[in-house]
Amino acid sequence: MRYSQYYIPTLREIPAEAEIDSHKLMLRAGMIRKAAAGMYSFLPLAYRVLQKITKIVEEEMDRAGGLQVLLPIVQPADIWHQTGRWDVYGDEMFRLQDRHKRDFCLGPTHEEMITTLVKNEVRSYRELPLRLYQIQNKYRDEIRPRYGVMRAREFIMKDLYSFDRDEEGLNRSYEAMYEAYTRIFTRLGLKFRAVEADSGAIGGDVSHEFMVLAPSGESVILYCEECAYAANNEKASAALPVKVEEAFLPIEQVHTPEQTTVPAVTAYLGVEPSKLVKTLFYQVGEELVAVLVRGDDELNEIKLGNLFNQPYRLAPPEEVAERLDLPVGYVGPVGLREKEVKIIADLRIKTMVNVVCGANRRDYHLRNVNLERDFSVDTFADLRLAKAGDPCPHCQQPLQETRGVEVGHIFKLGTKYSSALRAHFRDEQGEEKPFIMGCYGIGVSRIVAAAIEQNNDQDGIKWPVPIAPFQVLILPINSEQLATAEEIYQQLRAAGVEVLLDDREERAGVKFKDADLIGIPLRITVGPKGLAQGEVEVKVRMTGEELRWPLAEVTSQVLAFLQENTPEAK
Ligand code: ATP
Ligand code: MG
Repeated sequence: MRYSQYYIPTLREIPAEAEIDSHKLMLRAGMIRKAAAGMYSFLPLAYRVLQKITKIVEEEMDRAGGLQVLLPIVQPADIWHQTGRWDVYGDEMFRLQDRHKRDFCLGPTHEEMITTLVKNEVRSYRELPLRLYQIQNKYRDEIRPRYGVMRAREFIMKDLYSFDRDEEGLNRSYEAMYEAYTRIFTRLGLKFRAVEADSGAIGGDVSHEFMVLAPSGESVILYCEECAYAANNEKASAALPVKVEEAFLPIEQVHTPEQTTVPAVTAYLGVEPSKLVKTLFYQVGEELVAVLVRGDDELNEIKLGNLFNQPYRLAPPEEVAERLDLPVGYVGPVGLREKEVKIIADLRIKTMVNVVCGANRRDYHLRNVNLERDFSVDTFADLRLAKAGDPCPHCQQPLQETRGVEVGHIFKLGTKYSSALRAHFRDEQGEEKPFIMGCYGIGVSRIVAAAIEQNNDQDGIKWPVPIAPFQVLILPINSEQLATAEEIYQQLRAAGVEVLLDDREERAGVKFKDADLIGIPLRITVGPKGLAQGEVEVKVRMTGEELRWPLAEVTSQVLAFLQENTPEAK
């Protein structure tokens, strides 16, 4: 491709609305332009990247037994009514009516659609497993569209749905997808991790998110360097400490005037925050529920929410004080039973002995409080927010923290949709059974932004070879080198290399700046100094490495570089 005939409208100014590197760089490098909030046009350079990603995704989906289909984007409301999601989906769903005033939506996802299709087509276990996928635009009216194509309202997704006859089949499909995703992100040349994810109260089954590691990522990941454990912080847990070996001491009431926070009380009494039990209240339905966590721990509201499985909110201390006749800042578990309050506690509470907690009396705390002797708990659960440094739940080594961009999500659905939509098949005994399903998404357009987020510097993008829009950029310093540059261009093209020849009549400085900005992996500079010695100057964009190659070796060197930098999946 000749630059003069191509279209890369680079910008010198950093667009004000862009907050993160990838968004700024995609605008500056002339890859995207905004049409409306969260709606973007992909320009030629970006389209090439999308095609590369798409190709790898398709190859791996096909390899894993996926069959590509294309379902309508516009979906009738009635199938969504059948699963109850027409109401549940809320404002994130784009809705519209046809001329007959019938309701439709723009597909935010396709479980309803695909399950209905399969229900009407597949009758027998003999036709299973079935793994259908598509790559198309999805529509979600995100509450905060931001970061360019990272969180858009119209975006490209690969979604595969698996249909199996039993749990074992589902497990096989899930594993096939897990492996396919691992191969995809490896082949894309990205640093990533598969993490255990929270799959919400409903579903409740296994789910993994694939994260491209990047400091600006919205997700926090805890992982272990010793073993394979990695989890989203919504889900992560840590090994429990061993129970403190201490004899129970007699309970004591201590005067703690105006000491109502964990730091204040622990400082006042000269104890560690890990010796204190915090009591929080949540309103769950009509009920007030007490939740206990260790003084130095933070409650993980996602874990708590999964336990409640219904709407809940933190009850402000003043409200608790009024409803239960308790003093603000001095509540504790001892005697709460008499107020008919249900008590839920984090697992760590079990390991604590002789603790401090509020006395349910103004200006007083209790010391040497012990579980079972002084209070009891209705439900124990893992409720704390795990953090870096915690012992790994599998191997006890300290967990590390990093950030990531979620680019893929795989999920065991079970019969959630097949039951709701009465999508059944006949098994070997002739019995009607709902399909056992899984769903597996990849944010194809989000990957473009995530890849840039992971690979850039102040000058621009540093494309990994597998998804670079072009593999090589040839940059003649001035018109005198154009003929040689043209020769190299033809040779490389003949060898199957994707080359962009910067044949523009621009100053060399401008060309260098644009080259760094658009981030083509290899830049071959054809200049008077090098040519005098029969050489070209080469810059590897990813590492900044500078090389000199004899003219005669250019093609073989380029091919070797490309091969070296194209990761293979195991
Ligand atoms: P998120 O937590 O980021 O909102 P999600 O859980 O809603 O993601 P899924 O429904 O699992 O996402 O969608 C599958 C994939 O589609 C995600 O892993 C992500 O890569 C991509 N994706 C989801 N929402 C968007 C969006 N608004 N813009 C771009 N890509 C998206
Ligand atoms: Mg979402």
